[in-house]
Amino acid sequence: MVFDAYLSVSLRCKKCGKQNIKDLSYFELKKAEGSSVDCECGEHLIKVKSADLRTFHIIISCLVCNKEHKYVLKFRSIPFQKIKILSCPATMYNISFVGGKSLVRKMAAREQKDMEELLSSI
Ligand SMILES: [Zn+2]
Ligand SMILES: [Zn+2]
Repeated sequence: MVFDAYLSVSLRCKKCGKQNIKDLSYFELKKAEGSSVDCECGEHLIKVKSADLRTFHIIISCLVCNKEHKYVLKFRSIPFQKIKILSCPATMYNISFVGGKSLVRKMAAREQKDMEELLSSI
């Protein structure tokens, strides 16, 4: 088994609409301030923190309702070969994918496609 020391996240920027995919190293996540992801446009997107690498604290600035959402994930629920979909509790809209590198990319690509189909069908 290959140990993948990254947690990948995918989410869309609420300011410019760009889909961001980032790999966060476990080394970064363990730091007291955690690991933050900012969009190219400068907008803050997500912060992930895990002091013990067992419980992951995720704070997302939501693109749908414009509020901050906090999620606490157990390591067991986000193993490397799996993916966790985080949704906005107010609107149930999927706002982020967290998990294994290739799966996060797959989901992000699918979401991008759905979005394009949706837009072209209007
Ligand atoms: Zn942006
Ligand atoms: Zn929300």
